Amino acid sequence: GRASPPLAALSQVLRLERSRRTGIVFPLQKLERYLAPGTDAARFRLFQPGLAALQRAEALFRSDRGHPIDYVSSAVRMDHAPPPALPEVCFIGRSNVGKSSLIRALFSLALEVEVRVSKTPGHTKKMNFFKVGKYFTLVDMPGYGYRAPQDFVEMVEAYLQERRNLKRTFLLVDGVVGLQKTDNIAVEMLEEFGIPYVMVLTKIDRASRGVLLKNVLEIQEFVKENTQGCFPQLFLVSSVEFSGVHLLRCFVAHVTGNLPTVEAS
Ligand code: GDP
Repeated sequence: GRASPPLAALSQVLRLERSRRTGIVFPLQKLERYLAPGTDAARFRLFQPGLAALQRAEALFRSDRGHPIDYVSSAVRMDHAPPPALPEVCFIGRSNVGKSSLIRALFSLALEVEVRVSKTPGHTKKMNFFKVGKYFTLVDMPGYGYRAPQDFVEMVEAYLQERRNLKRTFLLVDGVVGLQKTDNIAVEMLEEFGIPYVMVLTKIDRASRGVLLKNVLEIQEFVKENTQGCFPQLFLVSSVEFSGVHLLRCFVAHVTGNLPTVEAS
C-alpha cells in the first residue's frame, strides 16, 4: 500500500536536529525569536503540550483494526448529517486555502482515509464527515469564495447554529496573503452565533519569515480587538512540510475531550 509521507509521524520529526524539530512541531514558537524586543509573546505559548500529549494525540490519528478512521458521509442539508453522537470539530475556509491538503495531512497516518475534493465548478458543495474511532468526528465544510452562493451560506449557518456536538471550528486563513475580506463572512458568522473557533494559518512554507511575521501579528491584533470567540493563539501549518500538523492533532484531541491533561513542556 501507500506509505505515509516523511515527517507525518512524530518519531520521524524527533530524529531531526533541535532547531528544525522546533520549527516543525512549534512553528509559532520558532517565529517568536524574531519579535521586536518588548512584544508581548504570551499569545505565542498558550497551548504548548509536552511530548507525551503529542504522542497520545498522534495515536488517535493512527488507525488500526480496533480503531478505524473513516469517511462517513456527505451532506448538503442538516437532516442528512450523521447523528451528533461524538464530539465534533469542523474546518472552514476560502476555496483554495489548503483545507483538503491539511485534512489529508492530519489523516496521513490512516492511509485508507480518502479526503475527497469536489472542485468542479457548479458541482454541489457538501459537508464531508469523518469518524475517528469512537472518539470524535471531523467535518470538512465546503469552501467559500467571493461568489459564495446563498445556499452555501445557509448550509454553513444551519450547521453552526444547530450542531450541538460541535466543540470547535477551525477557520483556515492563507498564511501568504493573510486575512481577506471574504474571511470576514466566516468571522462574523462565528461571532454572531457565539461559536468557539481558532484561526489556522496555512501554507507557511510558501511565506517568507517577514511576511509570515507580519500576517501573524496583524491577525493576532485583529483577534484581540475584534473577536470574542476566537482562541488567542494562532496555529501555523504547512501540509507540505508537516509543520504544525502534530500540534494541531494535539489541539483537536484536546478540544474534543480526548486528552484529559495537557501538561506543559
Ligand atoms: P482547498 O480548496 O482549501 O481544499 O485547497 P487545497 O488543499 O486543494 O490547496 C489549494 C492549493 O494550495 C493546491 O495547489 C495545494 O497543493 C496548495 N497547498 C495546500 N496546502 C499547502 C501547503 O501547506 N504548502 C504549499 N506550498 N502549498 C499548499
